[in-house]
Amino acid sequence: PRPDGGIRIDDLPIRPELRGKSPYGAPQLDVPVQLNTNENPYPLPEALVERITERVRDAARGLNRYPDRDAVELRTALAGYLTRTTGHPLDTANVWAANGSNEIIQQLLQTFGGPGRSAIGFEPSYSMHGLISRGTGTGWISGPRNDDFTIDVAAARRAIAEHRPDVVFITSPNNPTGTAVDADTVLALYEAAQQARPSLVVVDEAYVEFSHRPSLLPLIDGRPELVISRTMSKAFGAAGLRLGYLAAHPAVVDAVQLVRLPYHLSAVTQATALAALEHTDTLLGYVEQLKTERDRLVAELRAIGYEVTDSDANFVQFGRFPDAHEAWRKILDRGVLVRDNGVPGRLRVTAGTPAENDAFLDAVRELKKEQS
Ligand code: PMP
Repeated sequence: PRPDGGIRIDDLPIRPELRGKSPYGAPQLDVPVQLNTNENPYPLPEALVERITERVRDAARGLNRYPDRDAVELRTALAGYLTRTTGHPLDTANVWAANGSNEIIQQLLQTFGGPGRSAIGFEPSYSMHGLISRGTGTGWISGPRNDDFTIDVAAARRAIAEHRPDVVFITSPNNPTGTAVDADTVLALYEAAQQARPSLVVVDEAYVEFSHRPSLLPLIDGRPELVISRTMSKAFGAAGLRLGYLAAHPAVVDAVQLVRLPYHLSAVTQATALAALEHTDTLLGYVEQLKTERDRLVAELRAIGYEVTDSDANFVQFGRFPDAHEAWRKILDRGVLVRDNGVPGRLRVTAGTPAENDAFLDAVRELKKEQS
């Protein structure tokens, strides 16, 4: 007899909208060169590891108590970082933090979406926007993009007018395409959304530190329905920390308090994030190196003969392949793990260290020879 008694998910009384769905699942394979989940390839510098150890040791002495429920010290430090890097003055009250920007998105959907409500994103885009929508009972609408993966503003406005969503996602730079939008696009979609019904516009800036364009954060001024979502997983090289945050009008921060779990952000997480923020300048130095490597990947992939989408992120979308999954497998056979996001004919590679990128470029050079 099988230890699970042959019982499957669908034998359980799960919610009907979850039946037959797959969980988020980027493969975690043990290969030499892992360029598949847009992680930062640089481990945290040793001085920061020391500082984290000190701060966590202090936090450990108080673990008999619940952590600061409002994470005030951390939100103040994050507001300082945003003010310094965008030139737009922000206060503790404008910032909220959670376990990764995925939890930020979940809290926003629990607050502004939910049963009987809907959210729209312009696809291909970050698949979790749709998955978290479903998980919170929010209807999901797949909006369009142009063939070059930019947002077709007129078509997007029409989709918003037609479906009247409660939440609008704009991912800039977009994952998996790397495409960023300008302020005019955000303002046009914001206006369309507010005309259709009072709704929340979320600009997901997970990769903005890698962009050629400035952050869209100053647009929140005078627009309480506009939210910027950020993360320490990419630019701060701290995907394992699980720290995401948002910047918005203080009323939005008050609103998500209605759904956040009490003490959701552990004292260890808060201490670690504070230590990382003390080393912002060093970490942003790695971002500059990664931007140079990203631009090199774009140029070299084009020189090899691939079609490459312009990138403002720490990854590059390239193709075209008659069969993207087969190409993914052949690159993996050469010891390099990239990502097949299901975009027809295309794959995505994360910018790694110069040596990792060289290994990747060698692999796709060989593949090109084999396929032409
Ligand atoms: N937004 C986008 C666009 C992403 O690509 C990701 C991670 N892949 C996230 C949000 C979530 O990141 P985290 O939860 O680690 O902050």
